[in-house]
Amino acid sequence: MATLLKGTAFITGAGSAGIGQYTAWAFAKHGVKRLALSDINLKALRTTVDELRNRHPDVEVESLEMDVADEGSVESGLSRTVSAFGSLDIAVNNAGVGGPMKPTAEVATDEWKRHFDINLTGVWLCERGEIQRMLKQNSNRGPREGRGTIINVASMLGLVAASPTTPATAYVAGKHAVMGLTKTDAVMYAPHGIRINAMCPGYVETPLLKAATASGIMDGEIKKTPMGRLAQMEEIADAIVFLASPFSSFMCGAGLVVDGGFTVQ
Ligand code: NAD
Repeated sequence: MATLLKGTAFITGAGSAGIGQYTAWAFAKHGVKRLALSDINLKALRTTVDELRNRHPDVEVESLEMDVADEGSVESGLSRTVSAFGSLDIAVNNAGVGGPMKPTAEVATDEWKRHFDINLTGVWLCERGEIQRMLKQNSNRGPREGRGTIINVASMLGLVAASPTTPATAYVAGKHAVMGLTKTDAVMYAPHGIRINAMCPGYVETPLLKAATASGIMDGEIKKTPMGRLAQMEEIADAIVFLASPFSSFMCGAGLVVDGGFTVQ
Protein backbone atom coordinates (compact mmCIF):
# COMPACT_ATOMS: atom_id res chain seq x y z
CA MET A 1 0.00 0.00 0.00
CA ALA A 2 1.34 3.46 -0.90
CA THR A 3 2.35 5.62 2.06
CA LEU A 4 -0.19 8.37 2.60
CA LEU A 5 1.12 9.95 5.79
CA LYS A 6 4.56 11.18 6.84
CA GLY A 7 6.12 12.67 9.95
CA THR A 8 5.15 12.75 13.61
CA ALA A 9 1.50 12.47 14.65
CA PHE A 10 -0.02 13.34 18.01
CA ILE A 11 -3.48 12.11 19.09
CA THR A 12 -5.47 12.95 22.24
CA GLY A 13 -8.01 10.58 23.78
CA ALA A 14 -6.31 7.49 22.32
CA GLY A 15 -6.87 5.28 25.38
CA SER A 16 -10.36 3.83 25.01
CA ALA A 17 -11.46 1.59 22.14
CA GLY A 18 -12.92 4.63 20.40
CA ILE A 19 -12.11 7.07 17.58
CA GLY A 20 -8.66 8.01 18.98
CA GLN A 21 -7.48 4.41 19.23
CA TYR A 22 -8.77 3.51 15.75
CA THR A 23 -7.10 6.64 14.36
CA ALA A 24 -3.81 5.42 15.85
CA TRP A 25 -4.23 2.03 14.07
CA ALA A 26 -5.12 3.80 10.80
CA PHE A 27 -2.19 6.26 11.04
CA ALA A 28 0.27 3.40 11.58
CA LYS A 29 -1.29 1.47 8.68
CA HIS A 30 -0.96 4.48 6.38
CA GLY A 31 2.70 5.25 7.06
CA VAL A 32 3.13 7.29 10.27
CA LYS A 33 6.35 6.07 11.89
CA ARG A 34 6.38 8.35 14.98
CA LEU A 35 3.20 8.42 17.02
CA ALA A 36 2.57 10.28 20.31
CA LEU A 37 -0.58 8.93 21.97
CA SER A 38 -2.16 10.63 24.96
CA ASP A 39 -5.07 10.10 27.33
CA ILE A 40 -6.13 10.99 30.86
CA ASN A 41 -6.60 7.26 31.51
CA LEU A 42 -3.06 5.82 31.58
CA LYS A 43 -4.21 2.22 32.07
CA ALA A 44 -6.40 2.33 28.95
CA LEU A 45 -3.63 4.09 27.04
CA ARG A 46 -1.17 1.30 27.90
CA THR A 47 -3.51 -1.18 26.18
CA THR A 48 -3.57 0.93 23.00
CA VAL A 49 0.21 1.41 23.05
CA ASP A 50 0.98 -2.31 23.70
CA GLU A 51 -1.35 -3.38 20.90
CA LEU A 52 0.15 -0.81 18.52
CA ARG A 53 3.68 -2.05 19.28
CA ASN A 54 2.52 -5.63 18.59
CA ARG A 55 0.84 -4.76 15.30
CA HIS A 56 3.47 -2.27 14.06
CA PRO A 57 6.90 -2.92 15.66
CA ASP A 58 8.43 -0.44 13.17
CA VAL A 59 6.42 2.48 14.61
CA GLU A 60 7.99 4.51 17.44
CA VAL A 61 5.37 5.27 20.09
CA GLU A 62 5.42 7.84 22.90
CA SER A 63 2.81 7.29 25.61
CA LEU A 64 1.61 10.47 27.36
CA GLU A 65 -0.64 10.70 30.40
CA MET A 66 -2.37 13.99 29.68
CA ASP A 67 -5.46 15.89 30.85
CA VAL A 68 -6.53 18.16 27.97
CA ALA A 69 -8.30 20.46 30.43
CA ASP A 70 -5.02 21.20 32.23
CA GLU A 71 -2.68 23.71 30.61
CA GLY A 72 0.51 22.35 32.26
CA SER A 73 -0.37 18.78 31.30
CA VAL A 74 -1.02 19.73 27.64
CA GLU A 75 2.20 21.76 27.40
CA SER A 76 4.28 18.98 28.91
CA GLY A 77 2.71 16.36 26.56
CA LEU A 78 3.41 18.45 23.46
CA SER A 79 6.96 19.29 24.60
CA ARG A 80 7.68 15.60 25.23
CA THR A 81 6.39 14.79 21.74
CA VAL A 82 8.69 17.30 20.06
CA SER A 83 11.71 16.41 22.18
CA ALA A 84 11.20 12.66 21.55
CA PHE A 85 10.54 12.92 17.81
CA GLY A 86 11.98 16.28 16.72
CA SER A 87 8.81 17.59 15.05
CA LEU A 88 5.03 17.77 15.16
CA ASP A 89 3.40 17.32 11.76
CA ILE A 90 -0.12 15.95 12.33
CA ALA A 91 -2.28 16.61 15.41
CA VAL A 92 -5.70 15.11 16.15
CA ASN A 93 -7.58 16.79 18.99
CA ASN A 94 -10.01 14.00 19.72
CA ALA A 95 -10.37 13.70 23.53
CA GLY A 96 -13.87 14.53 24.65
CA VAL A 97 -16.76 13.52 26.89
CA GLY A 98 -20.48 13.07 26.32
CA GLY A 99 -21.62 15.63 28.86
CA PRO A 100 -24.97 15.87 30.65
CA MET A 101 -27.93 14.56 28.62
CA LYS A 102 -30.18 17.35 29.93
CA PRO A 103 -32.02 20.37 28.57
CA THR A 104 -30.71 23.79 29.60
CA ALA A 105 -33.26 24.27 32.41
CA GLU A 106 -31.81 21.22 34.21
CA VAL A 107 -28.06 21.73 33.73
CA ALA A 108 -26.08 22.83 36.82
CA THR A 109 -23.48 25.57 36.33
CA ASP A 110 -20.65 23.30 37.52
CA GLU A 111 -21.63 20.56 35.04
CA TRP A 112 -21.69 23.11 32.22
CA LYS A 113 -18.28 24.55 33.13
CA ARG A 114 -16.61 21.17 33.58
CA HIS A 115 -17.95 20.06 30.20
CA PHE A 116 -16.55 23.14 28.47
CA ASP A 117 -13.19 22.72 30.26
CA ILE A 118 -12.75 19.38 28.45
CA ASN A 119 -14.67 19.66 25.17
CA LEU A 120 -13.82 23.26 24.27
CA THR A 121 -10.92 24.59 26.38
CA GLY A 122 -9.23 21.18 26.01
CA VAL A 123 -9.31 21.46 22.20
CA TRP A 124 -8.18 25.08 22.32
CA LEU A 125 -5.25 24.41 24.70
CA CYS A 126 -4.02 21.57 22.47
CA GLU A 127 -4.52 23.54 19.27
CA ARG A 128 -2.70 26.59 20.66
CA GLY A 129 0.31 24.49 21.72
CA GLU A 130 0.34 22.64 18.38
CA ILE A 131 0.17 25.88 16.34
CA GLN A 132 2.98 27.44 18.41
CA ARG A 133 5.22 24.45 17.74
CA MET A 134 4.32 24.24 14.04
CA LEU A 135 4.99 27.98 13.60
CA LYS A 136 8.39 27.49 15.21
CA GLN A 137 9.33 24.58 12.96
CA ASN A 138 8.12 26.56 9.92
CA SER A 139 10.09 29.69 10.82
CA ASN A 140 12.73 29.17 8.11
CA ARG A 141 10.19 28.50 5.35
CA GLY A 142 8.56 31.01 3.03
CA PRO A 143 4.88 32.02 3.12
CA ARG A 144 2.58 29.02 2.51
CA GLU A 145 5.61 26.69 2.39
CA GLY A 146 5.22 25.59 5.98
CA ARG A 147 3.80 22.26 7.01
CA GLY A 148 1.51 20.93 9.68
CA THR A 149 -2.07 19.80 9.80
CA ILE A 150 -4.51 19.83 12.69
CA ILE A 151 -7.79 17.92 12.89
CA ASN A 152 -10.29 18.78 15.61
CA VAL A 153 -12.82 16.03 16.26
CA ALA A 154 -16.09 17.95 16.51
CA SER A 155 -19.37 16.21 15.61
CA MET A 156 -22.34 16.53 13.30
CA LEU A 157 -23.78 18.06 16.50
CA GLY A 158 -21.37 20.94 15.86
CA LEU A 159 -23.55 21.73 12.83
CA VAL A 160 -27.14 20.98 13.84
CA ALA A 161 -29.23 20.94 17.01
CA ALA A 162 -29.76 17.86 19.13
CA SER A 163 -33.30 16.51 19.06
CA PRO A 164 -35.50 16.97 22.16
CA THR A 165 -35.27 13.22 22.88
CA THR A 166 -31.45 13.45 23.18
CA PRO A 167 -31.03 16.91 24.77
CA ALA A 168 -27.23 17.10 24.90
CA THR A 169 -27.31 20.90 25.24
CA ALA A 170 -23.78 21.47 26.57
CA TYR A 171 -22.30 18.94 24.12
CA VAL A 172 -23.97 20.61 21.12
CA ALA A 173 -22.93 24.12 22.24
CA GLY A 174 -19.34 22.94 22.81
CA LYS A 175 -19.08 21.23 19.42
CA HIS A 176 -20.47 24.33 17.65
CA ALA A 177 -17.75 26.31 19.43
CA VAL A 178 -15.10 23.84 18.24
CA MET A 179 -16.32 24.49 14.67
CA GLY A 180 -15.91 28.26 15.22
CA LEU A 181 -12.41 27.75 16.60
CA THR A 182 -11.50 25.48 13.66
CA LYS A 183 -12.73 27.94 11.01
CA THR A 184 -11.12 31.01 12.57
CA ASP A 185 -7.74 29.38 13.19
CA ALA A 186 -7.82 27.78 9.72
CA VAL A 187 -8.12 31.24 8.15
CA MET A 188 -5.52 32.73 10.48
CA TYR A 189 -2.82 30.08 9.98
CA ALA A 190 -3.34 28.98 6.35
CA PRO A 191 -0.83 31.64 5.22
CA HIS A 192 1.74 29.88 7.45
CA GLY A 193 1.10 26.54 5.71
CA ILE A 194 -0.79 25.04 8.65
CA ARG A 195 -4.00 23.31 7.57
CA ILE A 196 -6.78 23.08 10.17
CA ASN A 197 -10.04 21.16 9.64
CA ALA A 198 -12.69 19.43 11.70
CA MET A 199 -14.04 15.91 11.61
CA CYS A 200 -17.82 15.79 12.10
CA PRO A 201 -18.90 12.22 12.80
CA GLY A 202 -22.50 11.16 13.18
CA TYR A 203 -23.29 8.58 15.84
CA VAL A 204 -20.40 6.13 16.20
CA GLU A 205 -20.36 2.80 18.03
CA THR A 206 -17.74 3.77 20.66
CA PRO A 207 -17.52 3.48 24.47
CA LEU A 208 -18.74 7.11 24.71
CA LEU A 209 -22.09 6.09 23.20
CA LYS A 210 -22.37 2.73 24.97
CA ALA A 211 -24.54 3.87 27.90
CA ALA A 212 -26.88 5.80 25.61
CA THR A 213 -27.31 2.89 23.17
CA ALA A 214 -27.81 0.41 26.02
CA SER A 215 -30.58 2.58 27.51
CA GLY A 216 -32.46 2.62 24.19
CA ILE A 217 -32.27 6.43 23.99
CA MET A 218 -30.43 6.16 20.64
CA ASP A 219 -33.02 3.96 18.91
CA GLY A 220 -34.88 6.98 17.51
CA GLU A 221 -31.61 8.57 16.31
CA ILE A 222 -30.59 5.38 14.51
CA LYS A 223 -34.03 5.24 12.83
CA LYS A 224 -33.56 8.87 11.72
CA THR A 225 -30.21 7.99 10.10
CA PRO A 226 -30.84 7.24 6.40
CA MET A 227 -28.22 4.47 6.45
CA GLY A 228 -30.04 2.97 9.47
CA ARG A 229 -27.03 2.21 11.65
CA LEU A 230 -24.24 3.65 13.78
CA ALA A 231 -20.84 4.38 12.17
CA GLN A 232 -18.02 1.94 12.77
CA MET A 233 -14.83 3.41 14.26
CA GLU A 234 -12.82 2.53 11.13
CA GLU A 235 -15.15 4.68 9.00
CA ILE A 236 -14.28 7.76 11.08
CA ALA A 237 -10.57 6.91 11.43
CA ASP A 238 -10.23 6.55 7.63
CA ALA A 239 -11.83 9.99 7.15
CA ILE A 240 -9.32 11.44 9.64
CA VAL A 241 -6.50 9.83 7.61
CA PHE A 242 -7.92 11.61 4.54
CA LEU A 243 -7.93 14.98 6.40
CA ALA A 244 -4.33 14.40 7.53
CA SER A 245 -3.15 13.39 4.05
CA PRO A 246 -2.24 15.31 0.87
CA PHE A 247 -5.56 14.07 -0.64
CA SER A 248 -7.27 16.87 1.32
CA SER A 249 -4.60 19.47 0.47
CA PHE A 250 -7.10 22.21 -0.51
CA MET A 251 -9.37 21.72 2.51
CA CYS A 252 -9.11 24.54 5.04
CA GLY A 253 -11.54 25.25 7.88
CA ALA A 254 -13.92 22.55 6.67
CA GLY A 255 -16.04 20.18 8.69
CA LEU A 256 -15.93 16.73 7.06
CA VAL A 257 -19.33 15.18 7.76
CA VAL A 258 -19.47 11.37 8.00
CA ASP A 259 -22.93 10.72 9.40
CA GLY A 260 -24.78 8.16 7.26
CA GLY A 261 -26.89 11.02 5.85
CA PHE A 262 -28.28 12.24 9.22
CA THR A 263 -27.74 15.97 8.61
CA VAL A 264 -28.77 16.21 4.96
CA GLN A 265 -32.49 15.62 5.63
P1 NAD B 1 -14.42 7.57 23.93
O1 NAD B 1 -15.07 7.80 25.25
O2 NAD B 1 -14.29 6.18 23.42
O3 NAD B 1 -12.97 8.24 23.90
C1 NAD B 1 -12.69 9.46 24.47
C2 NAD B 1 -11.32 9.40 25.11
O4 NAD B 1 -11.03 10.69 25.65
C3 NAD B 1 -11.23 8.40 26.26
O5 NAD B 1 -10.12 7.55 26.09
C4 NAD B 1 -11.08 9.27 27.51
O6 NAD B 1 -10.31 8.68 28.54
C5 NAD B 1 -10.41 10.51 26.91
N1 NAD B 1 -10.61 11.69 27.75
C6 NAD B 1 -11.74 12.10 28.37
N2 NAD B 1 -11.49 13.22 29.08
C7 NAD B 1 -10.19 13.52 28.87
C8 NAD B 1 -9.34 14.57 29.33
N3 NAD B 1 -9.78 15.52 30.16
N4 NAD B 1 -8.07 14.60 28.90
C9 NAD B 1 -7.58 13.63 28.06
N5 NAD B 1 -8.32 12.59 27.62
C10 NAD B 1 -9.62 12.55 28.03
O7 NAD B 1 -15.22 8.48 22.91
P2 NAD B 1 -15.26 8.58 21.31
O8 NAD B 1 -16.66 8.31 20.92
O9 NAD B 1 -14.15 7.84 20.69
O10 NAD B 1 -15.06 10.16 21.18
C11 NAD B 1 -13.92 10.75 20.64
C12 NAD B 1 -14.32 12.12 20.12
O11 NAD B 1 -15.29 11.95 19.09
C13 NAD B 1 -14.97 13.03 21.16
O12 NAD B 1 -14.50 14.35 21.00
C14 NAD B 1 -16.44 12.93 20.83
O13 NAD B 1 -17.16 14.07 21.24
C15 NAD B 1 -16.38 12.80 19.33
N6 NAD B 1 -17.58 12.23 18.72
C16 NAD B 1 -18.06 11.01 19.11
C17 NAD B 1 -19.22 10.53 18.51
C18 NAD B 1 -19.83 9.21 18.89
O14 NAD B 1 -20.97 8.94 18.49
N7 NAD B 1 -19.15 8.35 19.60
C19 NAD B 1 -19.88 11.28 17.53
C20 NAD B 1 -19.35 12.50 17.16
C21 NAD B 1 -18.20 12.97 17.77
